[in-house]
Amino acid sequence: MTTTMAHTEKQGGGWLLGETPTGRVFTPERCSDEHRLMAQTTREFVANEVLPALERMEQKDWACVRQLLHRCGELGLLGVDAPETYGGVELDTVAAVIVAESLAASASFGATFGAQCNLAIIPLLFFGSDPQCARYLPGLVSGETVGAYALSESSSGSDALSAKTRATRQADGSFVLNGEKMWITNGGFADLFIVFAKVDGEQFSAFIVERTAPGVSTGQEEHKLGLRGSSTTPVILQDAQVPADNLLGEIGLGHKVAFNVLNYGRFKLCASTSGGAKTALAESARYAAERKQFGQAIAEFGAIKHKLGEMSARAYAVESMLYRVAGAIEARIGEQAGPSGEAKLAAFEEFAIEASILKVAGSEMLDYLLDENIQVHGGNGFVEDYPAERHYRDARVNRIFEGTNEINRLLIPGMLARRALAGRLALIPAAKQLQEEILQPAPVDAPSDDPLAGAKRVSASLKKVVLLVLGVAMQTFGDSLRDQQEVLSFTADIVMDAFSAESVTLRASAAADTSRASLHADAAQVAVQAAATRSEAAAREALAAMSSGDALRTQLGALRRLLRGTPANTVAARRRLAEAAVSRAGYMFEG
Ligand SMILES: Cc1cc2nc3c(=O)[nH]c(=O)nc-3n(C[C@H](O)[C@H](O)[C@H](O)COP(=O)(O)OP(=O)(O)OC[C@H]3O[C@@H](n4cnc5c(N)ncnc54)[C@H](O)[C@@H]3O)c2cc1C
Repeated sequence: MTTTMAHTEKQGGGWLLGETPTGRVFTPERCSDEHRLMAQTTREFVANEVLPALERMEQKDWACVRQLLHRCGELGLLGVDAPETYGGVELDTVAAVIVAESLAASASFGATFGAQCNLAIIPLLFFGSDPQCARYLPGLVSGETVGAYALSESSSGSDALSAKTRATRQADGSFVLNGEKMWITNGGFADLFIVFAKVDGEQFSAFIVERTAPGVSTGQEEHKLGLRGSSTTPVILQDAQVPADNLLGEIGLGHKVAFNVLNYGRFKLCASTSGGAKTALAESARYAAERKQFGQAIAEFGAIKHKLGEMSARAYAVESMLYRVAGAIEARIGEQAGPSGEAKLAAFEEFAIEASILKVAGSEMLDYLLDENIQVHGGNGFVEDYPAERHYRDARVNRIFEGTNEINRLLIPGMLARRALAGRLALIPAAKQLQEEILQPAPVDAPSDDPLAGAKRVSASLKKVVLLVLGVAMQTFGDSLRDQQEVLSFTADIVMDAFSAESVTLRASAAADTSRASLHADAAQVAVQAAATRSEAAAREALAAMSSGDALRTQLGALRRLLRGTPANTVAARRRLAEAAVSRAGYMFEG
């Protein structure tokens, strides 16, 4: 399965510089028949085998969960990233997204599957030696072996590198591990763990630890708000014996394993949120069409149309970013020579900024949709008879794991600033050019018949708002910018909105000649207008925290000028989107 991406972007963060031509980015509309077949296979598996087992999974029937993982292996779903040598089917990045999206209807099983694919198979593929891959990957890819990833500890979650688990080197080169890991997904029934520990208490390193090794045990299942059909336990290492051959990567380079696995995990988490959003929209649209109040379907009320329209536009925005990044990663992988694991590692590292954007934007989009899904269901949304309440509980953890959203917000502008200072990304010259541009008279917008003309202008301007705010922040704080978390978080919000606005505008432009062109334009307009409103507020807060007097007035003037313009009629656009959601009983851009 290959993704046709002759012209996709090559550099993480590069989209902030200059214009991205239409047709240059990957969109869901460019998926191949093979991609669609993969989606269908996965959805049928979920509908016929996973959803009927939901109750058993929630009762912690781990034999049932293992059996379902094994079925995933048979269907090739666990092997989308792995080469054939290890039993995989090695499809492209878009196919991996499609599988994760399609599995999202059961968040619990999605978490189990995600831990296996993203947290056990990926570290081995990225960092495993040939003998390690040959020994462990075939079992993980077939689903006979279950994997887990043990990084967090009770006193080190976000600050993962301060782990206390210790690996003591033995005379024969082997290691003895002591410590306790917390909140480990698949902990209750995993056969092997990727464990992080400090060699001789100092050098943070990764190890492959088998459950049957002496000194390895797991604790009680956690009682969780959601994801009750997935296992979460402590992993206890008491003089656990780990052979020398089971060091993963190099001693002291465990952070490389941890951070790169996180890059991948954040990207895939977004795919799950995108899939979850489509499930929620379908539930809301169906319920709104059936439920009658005051003698009519609630879907007829403007307030409910607003919700369905807004849900559609938010799902569209995240989906557009997700597929754009998937395409860019795939193009980057295609450029690299050498083993596919190394090529993937380099590509995901390049797009680490976008992975953080996707993680935050996806998790917050899904929580918004699931909250509205309950609201559309009224009292029925609050009781267990309908799935809305379970989805709502299940999704909450998305803002906590794979790096909390606070940490990811700090990373987004932090990585941009670091790449700019290292000369890898020409943001500083672009910010200087913007300063000059702002001193010139404002250009007059030529009248246009293009329904997306306004969205295109705003989307270009939002990138300049990023340059304005990040430029002022770098100039004002220099090296101490990392201590200015509020400014960094506001900047991250603007970066996310700028990426979202451009992604939807490019996608809607690319769909201009299709039968759904007007719906694409509606979704893009709603998303872009909201992005502009949010970004203006965030920029005002950030600028006022950095400047005062004439300097602040000049910056606010520049901001107003960048975001000037007449608002689109998004009330009408949401209504049209809502009507499409009801008539299709779900997401209008699928299939
Ligand atoms: C269901 C579930 C499954 C999980 N699965 C796994 C797994 O398989 N493997 C694994 O290793 N871990 C797993 N985790 C752990 C998860 O990754 C951590 O919970 C997460 O990294 C946050 O760490 P913490 O809970 O210690 O929160 P803390 O780090 O204590 O954070 C608490 C709050 O402080 C904020 N904060 C922390 N540091 C900063 C900072 N520098 N600046 C600003 N704000 C900050 C956080 O954003 C958060 O809001 C799982 C957790 C759950 C709930």
